[in-house]
Amino acid sequence: MKLIYELRAKGIITEDKKNQLDSAVRDMGKTEEEVIVENKILPELSLFELKSKLINMPIKNLYQREISQDVLGLISGAAALNYKMVPLSKKDNVVEIGMVYPENISSQNALRFLSGKNDFIYKIYLITFSDFKNVLKQYKTLESETKKALEELGEDKRGMINSLEQASGSLVITDDAPVIKMVLVILRHAIEGGASDIHIEPTRDKLNIRFRQDGILHLSLFLPISVHPSIVSRIKILSNLKIDENRIPQDGRFSAKIDGKDIDFRIATFPILYGEKVEIRVLDPTEGLKPFEKMGFSKRNIEVITKALKMPYGLILASGPTGSGKTTTLYSLMRILNQESVNVVTIEDPVEYSMPGVNQSQVKPDIGYTFAEGLRQILRQDPNVIMVGEVRDEETASLVTNAALTGHIVLSTLHTNSATGVIPRLIDMGVRPFLIPSTLRVVIAQRLIRSLCQKCKKKISPSEKVKKYILDIIKDLPAFAKADINLNESIYIYEANGCELCNSKGYKDRMGLYEVLSMTDELIDIILKSPAESLILKVAQKQGMLTMLQEGILKVLDGQTTIDEVIRVTQEK
Ligand SMILES: [Zn+2]
Repeated sequence: MKLIYELRAKGIITEDKKNQLDSAVRDMGKTEEEVIVENKILPELSLFELKSKLINMPIKNLYQREISQDVLGLISGAAALNYKMVPLSKKDNVVEIGMVYPENISSQNALRFLSGKNDFIYKIYLITFSDFKNVLKQYKTLESETKKALEELGEDKRGMINSLEQASGSLVITDDAPVIKMVLVILRHAIEGGASDIHIEPTRDKLNIRFRQDGILHLSLFLPISVHPSIVSRIKILSNLKIDENRIPQDGRFSAKIDGKDIDFRIATFPILYGEKVEIRVLDPTEGLKPFEKMGFSKRNIEVITKALKMPYGLILASGPTGSGKTTTLYSLMRILNQESVNVVTIEDPVEYSMPGVNQSQVKPDIGYTFAEGLRQILRQDPNVIMVGEVRDEETASLVTNAALTGHIVLSTLHTNSATGVIPRLIDMGVRPFLIPSTLRVVIAQRLIRSLCQKCKKKISPSEKVKKYILDIIKDLPAFAKADINLNESIYIYEANGCELCNSKGYKDRMGLYEVLSMTDELIDIILKSPAESLILKVAQKQGMLTMLQEGILKVLDGQTTIDEVIRVTQEK
């Protein structure tokens, strides 16, 4: 592009001005068009008419035209903003696209990609900044929708907040439609973006809304701090919490139908310096109730787990940090065990997903209904299969072991970093070593890892350092796992890039990384003699167990994820 040059050639600007504009382009990272308009060298329309001639592309004046949401849907708001291009109309299969920078290669590539994905052919027109902005405004984005709700709050806002501070009878106040709408908009965007958590955090001067997507927290929006009390009140009303209590944490939940799906939300409030922070856990039943086959277990792991499930009794444990998907794993196993002739009873904290045919109960520590107490009650219900949310203390550890020993299949979770760490942990918790071999069937340690976007991932040769790291980890792989990799050839890995499909994140969805330990005769010996984690690991590996790190590296070589991602999650405690 030579717009500035052209202006000089036409004598519209002096040499001095030309140099000044050139350096603004160079130093501020702005485009020639932006610099020319900002310096008021030419009116916007004249500038784009000049550009239209220069690049030989017709210009289209939109005159505040309204674009239908259907047409806008062809290019997402994020892509429109990023590539400065918007869809203008659609007739049959032909879409008219307005672009501010049609000469930009990455915009052209993005458009080509979108036309393939959404199956249309396109015709490009040059449009001005103003026309572009007018179309962009028509996108229903999180920002625009909440902003609209904010505007609707309008004048009453001050009065509303004041009466809220008096905190009585605020029901009427928070029934205010704009607040309801704003909360709904936040929830809906969280669901559509696949967020697992929503954090509503007051700071000194604004209210931050952050979404956790694929395990990572992103700042999604900030709102004026003045709406904080009404938003918190609205959420408290929905979840039956005390509106006037903001000094102690409260827990609650509510359900809502969003985009035709029944979603449960679990609420926790927490007082911080600038008021109450609210954390909302999104419990999407279609996410939490994945069938076992869809969990991403390897063939060896499926065999080991299935064998354990067929035993008449025994203990099956899932381990990993919070948010590693252990509950989802237990639910998927429970689904297999949940047959008509079988009595399945759970005690959970809290009940995350309701499962038809299963008797689910929830701990209530404030009235003494703990995991241990719950388990004692459950054993009187003649259960076949028992799920206990978590083994947290010695008492529960001993009850769980005894239940398994007396003919029940017991599923539970434990907080350890690895599968092999579960055995020493159980012993720490007072379980006698000789009881472990006869009760513990299988341990599944796990993490959730982000999957690379298959559309935009980039193939690269790893650095020498990374290559050495990879080779180090796979050299001890059992033969069956080594068979698939050719170590004589060069190693390639992939890195995250970013495209329209993955919202420029480079990653899309998550998958499990597993480490599955099964009880064998050789292990029994070690447990009885000296159950050190390193010894257990050695034997388990000899028997075909892959560590999470090894499984991760195989997924890296297979192009499913990145090395950074594997290192990040396997170092999580
Ligand atoms: Zn992508």
